[in-house]
Amino acid sequence: MSIETLANFVDGRGCPPASGTYLDCENPYSRTVWGRIARSDAADAEAAVSAARRAFREGPWSRFTAPQRGAMLHAMADVVAAHAEELARIEVRDNGKTYKEMLGQVKRIPEWYRFYGGLADKINGAVLPTEKPGQMNYTLHEPLGVIAMITPWNSPLMLLAWKLAPALAAGNVAVVKPSEFTSASALRFAELMTQEAGLPAGVLNVVTGLGAEVGAALTAHKDVAKVAFTGGVTGGRAAYVAAAEKLRPVSLELGGKSPNLVFADADLEQAARGIVSGIFGSGGQSCVAGSRALVHVSAMETFVARAVELTGKIRLGDPMSADTDIGPVATPAQFDRIMTCIGWAKKDGATTAIGGAPVSDPSGGEALFVAPTIFTGVWNDMRIAREEVFGPVLAVIPFETEEEAIALANDSDFGLGAGIWTRDISRVHRVAAALEAGSVWVNSYKGGSQISPFGGYKMSGLGREGGMEMIRDYLQVKSVWLNLADEVAYPFPL
Ligand code: NAD
Repeated sequence: MSIETLANFVDGRGCPPASGTYLDCENPYSRTVWGRIARSDAADAEAAVSAARRAFREGPWSRFTAPQRGAMLHAMADVVAAHAEELARIEVRDNGKTYKEMLGQVKRIPEWYRFYGGLADKINGAVLPTEKPGQMNYTLHEPLGVIAMITPWNSPLMLLAWKLAPALAAGNVAVVKPSEFTSASALRFAELMTQEAGLPAGVLNVVTGLGAEVGAALTAHKDVAKVAFTGGVTGGRAAYVAAAEKLRPVSLELGGKSPNLVFADADLEQAARGIVSGIFGSGGQSCVAGSRALVHVSAMETFVARAVELTGKIRLGDPMSADTDIGPVATPAQFDRIMTCIGWAKKDGATTAIGGAPVSDPSGGEALFVAPTIFTGVWNDMRIAREEVFGPVLAVIPFETEEEAIALANDSDFGLGAGIWTRDISRVHRVAAALEAGSVWVNSYKGGSQISPFGGYKMSGLGREGGMEMIRDYLQVKSVWLNLADEVAYPFPL
């Protein structure tokens, strides 16, 4: 069977990697290699950054007015919307998530380009009333330049939109390094944006390959003005350190060990539904997966019974089928990681309420599946309660008082999301204020908007994505002083 060969996308066209080497792309459901992507290195990073820099300094993009940039982002939104099914299929082929999830994500992407497109001509400086007579002072808000965008495999195009839409609205240019497991969608997206939306060559470049190779080359590149990274803590730290060497700003969207707090007065049916979907939606392969359930001792039995019952109905299978709720695990390495984490929980004495083992491929193939798993009898100091699994594993931990619940929730290296399940409105506000998490949902879990900021406390990240203010992270401010007097102030003898 012939396989597709995908080149990098640099300066508006396909560019084979300088080294001539490639990485295989495997479909996690069929377990077949459908194509190969460029295994890029520092030479490819150099070519992409140079093309981006030319586009930023000299190309047509450098002459786009703010309203023209806004119109371009709206055109990009229209092209994504027109190709949503195609782009969603490309995502599923690489990461094995269900088509309904990926299509839902891709269909929301245009909202990001429209929101930030609408902001493009609303970025203005100010004339400042300084104390200096005869002097006028005003500010200019300028783009930073070349932004290196590094993205993971779980929601590739959506997480790219979170970075690219505000960056382009502010007038920047981009070099994208998608996950080595899911590079095809970014390549196709860049091609569509250039060929159909009319984005000038060099504004959006994509180089594929390994994080430690082309990813590291990009984050250390002297002409990269900012690094916007989404992924795990290890890669994020490496990107942060590399950018620090060049004193460049960095945004990091990293992992989580997000808790749901179920109080005694909660609607336990709704809590069970919200928590089961909050962890097992996406097969747990979501940064904000609610992987810890902190449950009041009086609610424990009812909550666990219902959560187990709901979990037992989740259907594993072909990610393209409308009847499938969870597709295969995205990669063999991720499967091994999930099984290792399950092993820790069992060894540390947690009780397997459901799952806890691999499931053979329902279609008789070789796809890797893990049963949605709930562990009870977990204490917050167990490894299963502390480390991100990034798979379908829920750890249920008991508590007795509100103070204890807050302390357990906050006793984590991470702080991405949290859920509160209660009918007590005073408690809602007390607990929401006390939780160390970038997003707090009350009587629901997950969900977000381009209009609202998203990001993490502690090791879950640095900076926010989404919302109006966030566009400022892609701008720098220049202060311009004009002497209105005829003569310059001169302190020395004439
Ligand atoms: P990962 O860190 O392995 O890879 C993410 C990206 O970083 C990839 O493109 C990879 O090639 C690159 N990379 C890795 N090492 C690098 C280095 N040294 N220098 C430069 N680039 C490097 O993460 P992953 O397995 O693809 O994704 C899963 C992780 O992403 C989870 O921890 C998850 O929680 C996190 N995530 C966070 C968010 C968020 O918004 N907070 C969203 C989705 C996923």
